[in-house]
Amino acid sequence: MKIAIYPGSFDPITNGHLDIIERAVHLFDKVIVTVARNTEKNSPLFSHEERISLIAKAVSELENIEVDSFEGLMVDHAVKHGSVAAIRGLRALSDFEFEFKMALMNRNLNEDISTLFLMPHAKYTHVSSAMVREAASLGGNVSDYVPAHVDKALKNKYKNV
Ligand code: ADP
Repeated sequence: MKIAIYPGSFDPITNGHLDIIERAVHLFDKVIVTVARNTEKNSPLFSHEERISLIAKAVSELENIEVDSFEGLMVDHAVKHGSVAAIRGLRALSDFEFEFKMALMNRNLNEDISTLFLMPHAKYTHVSSAMVREAASLGGNVSDYVPAHVDKALKNKYKNV
């Protein structure tokens, strides 16, 4: 059974992340979407538990997907789950340098875990959680970029701002 993990901060999950997840389940028997606890970029908008539950709802119709979280080294978490690969999404050239360095560092930490890069549909290449948060915080419509329940959760977060 080939298992891959898809690590990230998912603050919140977007249709770009979902596009990558759907591609990954075609390639692996199981994909574990795993929310990083320790790389919480400053202070996340959604709590760890909120991010996990938004992802769980977003993937509830898909098969062979699990959602969990990890702390510490991503490669250690991958090994713990019997995973052979870490999935990362590449949007534009701007992702490349950071992802390249991280993939090489992770390979150095554990040769057995391969980083696999997938590209989303072109319509999601400009979508990031940060852009979605910013637009939503200013009252912008982000419904093309996130599932309906995430759109609602964003509106809820910003309703008092
Ligand atoms: P972000 O960079 O949006 O905060 P994460 O840290 O949650 O996202 O990212 C997890 C992984 O998903 C990373 O490999 C990131 O490049 C990828 N990713 C994020 N948004 C997209 C998108 N719109 N299309 C493809 N991959 C994406």
